[in-house]
Amino acid sequence: MALNLIMLGPPGAGKGTQAERFATAKGIPRISTGDILREAVQAGTELGKRAKAIMERGELVSDEIMIGIVRERLARDDVRAGFILDGFPRTVPQAKALDGIMAGRDPLIVLNIDVADEELVRRLTTRMICKECGTNAAVEDAAVPGSRCKKCGGAMVQRADDSVAVIIARLKTYQRDTKPLVNFYGARPTYRSVNGAQPPDQVAADLIAAIAAVSKTAPSGAHA
Ligand code: AMP
Repeated sequence: MALNLIMLGPPGAGKGTQAERFATAKGIPRISTGDILREAVQAGTELGKRAKAIMERGELVSDEIMIGIVRERLARDDVRAGFILDGFPRTVPQAKALDGIMAGRDPLIVLNIDVADEELVRRLTTRMICKECGTNAAVEDAAVPGSRCKKCGGAMVQRADDSVAVIIARLKTYQRDTKPLVNFYGARPTYRSVNGAQPPDQVAADLIAAIAAVSKTAPSGAHA
């Protein structure tokens, strides 16, 4: 059965870190819609020009654009053994469109990472990412000035949307538009939620256990 995973959870829950870890371990692509948009902003493409101001306000890029990006990405050959979507879907219309894209494929495994708001603000205000490759600094290393990326040696910077004002806007956007996905997916046999307020190794172990448990319940080739 293909490992078709989506990661749900608020900004700062650790979706990116966990998705990257799991994707590397399993040899499946991690598809981060945030990374795709940041690359477009950096490259100055038409998409990047449209997305920049929206991202800086902590709001969401339109469903139409995001669904188009993901539809095209999931049509590529490298997702045959599975994929891990990080940051998509973020709205109910995106989730409904994804169900359409997934018709006839192995079911989606839906993983929610749960973390309280106070902890999210703390993590987001202290995190830094590599300017070159996008890797997050471990929270405990993030505040060290002049620190370099452990993966590629690039400069560590704060994300443009990790200022307190934008973080508050992003958390509001999450509550309004994305949290309803917990209800949308919650009743499916392939849905699991894990406690994200634990050390990253423990979160990773819980996610692996959750994936193993739902893989046993999921019928191959059918829609969950
Ligand atoms: P992320 O790196 O997932 O936190 O995404 C950064 C920003 O990109 C978000 O705050 C949104 O502005 C935008 N974005 C990423 N994914 C989506 C999506 N699926 N739908 C709409 N906007 C998105």
